[in-house]
Amino acid sequence: MNNTTWGRQSNIYFTVTVGQPFTVNFDLDHDRELRDASDSPNEAYAVKNFRRDPDAYNLYYVGMRIKEHQGARAAAFAEFNNQTLEGNGWFGTDGLSNQTVAHELGHMLGRNGHSPTGEDFWRDLMYESIVSTVNQCRVRNPDWVLNHP
Ligand SMILES: [Zn+2]
Repeated sequence: MNNTTWGRQSNIYFTVTVGQPFTVNFDLDHDRELRDASDSPNEAYAVKNFRRDPDAYNLYYVGMRIKEHQGARAAAFAEFNNQTLEGNGWFGTDGLSNQTVAHELGHMLGRNGHSPTGEDFWRDLMYESIVSTVNQCRVRNPDWVLNHP
């Protein structure tokens, strides 16, 4: 991530620390899937409110699929609060790839939305869905500018 995506292309580097695993009952609707916070925040916030560092971008790996993201980007979502500058991201059981982490960090850094659809944008880090035939690590100008005002 530092060497292939944000660091080398944008001079944005992350210090990664790994927290202790914890267990919290977040499956509030008992469907064995995590809900996307933008759809229904209670489950994701049960995780975040249980443990978070307010001075960090918090990434949570959850042992469940994410209900709204099956078939789109690999079962992950992120939020960014532009008042507090806080970013948080959640990953389901099949979503913990380097590329997906980098993509969700883009959202945590404040990028709303995604690159336009179409083959010209398949290689973009902020493309909405996985295109398995290409390496999607390209940081486009709008994402770069966002972090270099
Ligand atoms: Zn996205």
